Amino acid sequence: PTVPHALGKEYLLLLWISLGLVVREYTSLSHLDKQYFGFPGEILMRMLKLVILPLIISSMITGVAALDSEVSGKIGLRAVIYYFSTTIIAVVLGIILVMAIKPGVSQAADHIDRTGTTPNVNTVDTLLDLVRNMFPENLVQACFQQYKTKRKELEPPKVVTNSTTNITKEYKLVGSYSDGINVLGLIVFCVAFGLVIGKMGEKGRILLEFFDALNEATMKLVQIIMCYMPVGILFLIAAKIVEVEDWEIFRKMGLYMVTVLSGLAIHSVVCLPLIYFIIVRKNPFTFTLGMAQALVTALMISSSSATLPITFRCAEENNRIDKRITRFVLPVGATINMDGTALYEAVAAIFIAQLNDYPLDVGQIVTISITATVASIGAAGVPNAGLVTMVIVLTAVGLPANDVTLIVAVDWLLDRFRTMINVLGDAYGAGIVQKLSKRELERMDLVSDVDVANPF
Ligand code: ASP
Repeated sequence: PTVPHALGKEYLLLLWISLGLVVREYTSLSHLDKQYFGFPGEILMRMLKLVILPLIISSMITGVAALDSEVSGKIGLRAVIYYFSTTIIAVVLGIILVMAIKPGVSQAADHIDRTGTTPNVNTVDTLLDLVRNMFPENLVQACFQQYKTKRKELEPPKVVTNSTTNITKEYKLVGSYSDGINVLGLIVFCVAFGLVIGKMGEKGRILLEFFDALNEATMKLVQIIMCYMPVGILFLIAAKIVEVEDWEIFRKMGLYMVTVLSGLAIHSVVCLPLIYFIIVRKNPFTFTLGMAQALVTALMISSSSATLPITFRCAEENNRIDKRITRFVLPVGATINMDGTALYEAVAAIFIAQLNDYPLDVGQIVTISITATVASIGAAGVPNAGLVTMVIVLTAVGLPANDVTLIVAVDWLLDRFRTMINVLGDAYGAGIVQKLSKRELERMDLVSDVDVANPF
């Protein structure tokens, strides 16, 4: 209730879409004009991205240090079990739907443009890269390293080979990089750092107080950014509508999009709420409503990392989730828990197999489920990341990796919806882990005079 309403009323969305359509219809904007038109939206994105770094660092360190290592271990384990099981459920749901609807079977593959280059990514490299990214060589570099490739154009990743050892060293394309920040690497560092300073007694307390103050200040900045959100989001939507050139592609890809979107809808309206209800015994739809601002933000900006500041506010203030849980569960979730992405990857891979008339046996379907899960964990929380890691799923079952270009044209739209489900999954995760950890949290409240909402 104390959160300023991001959109005024969510139905204003329609008004903004109309603005985009009107501008599109009655004006002929040049490429440069379109860029100017999108400028206020660009500023919103920049502001949200700006607070990711202090937010992740301060929330993870204080989150871990405020718990004792046994409790944080238990919470971490519960979170990982939740992430993993919901991702698998999403993948299975996607597979069932795509096998039932068969969006690729009736469609002639040559309707869709098959040109374009493909990134060269494989499963082993993704896994190695994921682990590599967990241990950044340089902490400062981990905070600002740039991608070596331009994701949008789907260029092949630049592989740097060490000439003496012949070991392939740099794959910046997949892993946990989020707008230049190695999020997973930072998370690993902050967990270790938080654990250490939590055990340091009086000396550690100084550091802890510093990071807690940093966290509070960052959240205040988020509050200010949220005042600008209605304007930023208005221009983000309108500019996108003005920019889209090929509406015809939606007709061609209609059934495929329907399959992905219905999977995402079922997962968010049935699967996740049901799990929440069974475990927490509270109304899941009130919970979803509490996350509305974060969900709309995710829909608009297609990035779970950049939505993180809003996810925090909604979870803590509207849904009253304990800060000791959100600080821990949300940043990790935004990086590795992507139900929407996993579902989409499974559907897209089977859709491409159907387009190619490529029969899949049970073993290949199982391979798709496993690789779609890995690919969703490996995808960063940035726009179109799932499209890039899709190549892993395709190559694992022998489909042409190049065919990822078949679905590029509609990815900007599907990306928004799957990001929304990714964010919702993280939020439900925090609610569920809080319920499962109630006993530990209460015990901590008894043994220390630490305030639940504010450990200091
Ligand atoms: N855009 C998604 C996210 O940030 C990742 C994806 O491309 O699926 O969660």
